[in-house]
Amino acid sequence: MTALVGEAAAADETASLKGGRMAAEKALAAIDPIAYAASRNHLDGAVTRLSPYLRHGILSLDEVRNHALASVADPRQAEKFIQELAWRDYWQRIYLVHPDRIWNDVESYKTGFEASEYDSELPADAVDGRTGVACIDQFIAMLYETGYLHNHARMYLAAYVVHWRRVRWQAGAVWFLEHLLDADPASNNLSWQWVASTFSKKPYIFNLDNVAKYTGHDINTRMADNRVLALSYERLGELLFPNLEPAHG
Ligand SMILES: Cc1cc2nc3c(=O)[nH]c(=O)nc-3n(C[C@H](O)[C@H](O)[C@H](O)COP(=O)(O)OP(=O)(O)OC[C@H]3O[C@@H](n4cnc5c(N)ncnc54)[C@H](O)[C@@H]3O)c2cc1C
Repeated sequence: MTALVGEAAAADETASLKGGRMAAEKALAAIDPIAYAASRNHLDGAVTRLSPYLRHGILSLDEVRNHALASVADPRQAEKFIQELAWRDYWQRIYLVHPDRIWNDVESYKTGFEASEYDSELPADAVDGRTGVACIDQFIAMLYETGYLHNHARMYLAAYVVHWRRVRWQAGAVWFLEHLLDADPASNNLSWQWVASTFSKKPYIFNLDNVAKYTGHDINTRMADNRVLALSYERLGELLFPNLEPAHG
C-alpha cells in the first residue's frame, strides 16, 4: 500500500517536470532561499528541482544565484542555497582540471577493503528495485519513474549500493547517469566517490532512524521492512567495515 502511494506521488512529479526556458523561469520564480535553508535536508523540503535546467544549460548558476540574492532582504538569507550552488561549480571545476577523476578512484577506499574486493556490477535485485529493503526499493522506483531524487535519497541509495552490497561506486554512477534527468558526470561521479570514501576522509553511511527523520509518510521506514538499516551507527560500522578499528569516543 505504502509503495502504491509512493508510486502515485512519483508519477505526479514526472508530469510536473517540463522542459524549456519558460518552465525553467517558472521554477526559478518559485525558489524560496529562506525556506530552503530550513528544510532542504527533508525529502518534502523546499528544494528547487532546478538541477535538470542547470545541467542542460537552460539556466546558468550565475542567473540562479542572482535571482536568489534579489529575492531576500539580507544576502545572508540566501547563503545556504548559494553554498549548494557552489557545490555544483566545485565539481565542474574539478572535472575541468582533473578529468581523470571522473571514472578513477581519486584515493583508496577508507573502508578496510581494497577496490578489488568490490563487485564491478550492480546486483540484479537492485537493478530491479527488489532488494527487499523497503525504503531503498521506493527510492529506486522514484529514480526510474521520475528521473529525479532528492539529494538525501541519492546519498542513501549510493551508500546502500557501495557499503551494504559492496559494489564499486563506478557501477552505481553509471546506473544513476542512465536514469537521472540532471545526469552529470561531475556532480554524480564525484558525489559517488564522496559516499564511497575514495574522495573523502571516511565512508558515508546512514541508518533507518536517519531515513525516518528526513522522509515523510510516503516512505516505508518500518523496522520489519528495513532490517539491514535498523541498527546503531556503531553496530553498522562493525558489520559493514569489519577490518577497521572500532571508532572511539
Ligand atoms: C550520489 C549522488 C549523485 C548525484 N548526481 C547528480 C547529478 O547527476 N546531477 C546533479 O546535478 N546533481 C547530482 N547530485 C547532487 C544533488 O543531489 C542534486 O544536484 C540535487 O539533489 C538536485 O536537486 P534540486 O535541484 O532540487 O537541488 P536543490 O537542493 O534545490 O539545490 C539547488 C541546486 O544546487 C546544486 N546542488 C545542490 N546540492 C548539490 C550537491 N550536493 N552537489 C552538487 N550540486 C548541488 C544543484 O545544481 C541544484 O539544482 C548528486 C548527489 C549525490 C549524493
